[in-house]
Amino acid sequence: MENYFPPCGKLVRRADLLPLLRATGAELRALYARADAVRRAHCGDAVPIRAIIEFSNVCANDCLYCGIRASNPAPKRYRMTPDEIVASARQVAATGAAGTLVLQGGETPGPGDDELEGVLRRIKAAVPGLALTLSVGNRPRATYARWQAAGMDRYLLRFETSDPDLFARLHPDCTLAERLGCLRDLQALGVQAGGGFMIGLPGETMEILADNILLCREFDFDMIGIGPYIPNPETPLGDQPNVYAGDPDMVFRAIAVLRLANPDAHIPATTAFDALFPDGRNLALQRGANVFMPNATPGPLRKDYQLYPGKPCIDEDAADCARCVQARLRALGRPVAPGPGHSLKHKPPAP
Ligand code: SF4
Repeated sequence: MENYFPPCGKLVRRADLLPLLRATGAELRALYARADAVRRAHCGDAVPIRAIIEFSNVCANDCLYCGIRASNPAPKRYRMTPDEIVASARQVAATGAAGTLVLQGGETPGPGDDELEGVLRRIKAAVPGLALTLSVGNRPRATYARWQAAGMDRYLLRFETSDPDLFARLHPDCTLAERLGCLRDLQALGVQAGGGFMIGLPGETMEILADNILLCREFDFDMIGIGPYIPNPETPLGDQPNVYAGDPDMVFRAIAVLRLANPDAHIPATTAFDALFPDGRNLALQRGANVFMPNATPGPLRKDYQLYPGKPCIDEDAADCARCVQARLRALGRPVAPGPGHSLKHKPPAP
């Protein structure tokens, strides 16, 4: 069975990945074991914790699958004030459980970008030990540079699909080339950059899925976030199921193959895994993922930040989620990683 797997460095073509993405039975169990072993060898057993604050559900875009798309009247729109964001960051730091704070929101270029710059500076001054990740979509390189100077360490910007035509059908507001250009700008600036994709978007083929994994490898991302496409009835794609709906193992095959092709990337067990499977994030951590991202959004706001239905942790608060992650890792026998959990590929520039 060991010969079934090419060395990680040889997974460079669709033809290398497709047999793994089709594995079943004993081969599938071997794939999961191999992904877990590669994760252990390159990332260790300790799990970096990134607390995420969904600080705004206001978005100017209309991505066809997204529950907070501009055209959806259902969510009550909110935008946390700078004081509220900084107070939440202080609470995250006070728990001592997370080495990184992720600020995520919809894509709203404009005056809010200056406000975000100020928020980054305030958080960095108040809790200098926390690494700061931002995830608010496409921006000009100059804006990324300003945020980097204000204290941003990392940026998450999933490309969602590597197929330009499928990307164009799902994203009326930008092209794949523009999205990838933003990722190149971030890497050129020396910001730790994270890409990623959805698994099973309507129109996706197994070949596109393989290409998604290979694109992550080509970019050599510091972080890679992936998760299943879950149809949201409040969106134009609401009646279109995940293309792998009859094959629930597919999301775990994808994360295992992603790990083999990207051995030293930080790969989170994203929340959407829990939406599909009981303890889905635990399973992801045993099949290639190495990072956990508990929700630290203030409890009352969570119900209005639902990109997909059935999102877990809606009724909890930040303290509940911090306790939950500790219990999960104890059950898995995995310690919390100390420190900010920076990229395993390169050190950030000296302050
Ligand atoms: S996926 Fe992101 S950019 Fe697209 S509508 Fe949703 S929040 Fe906005």
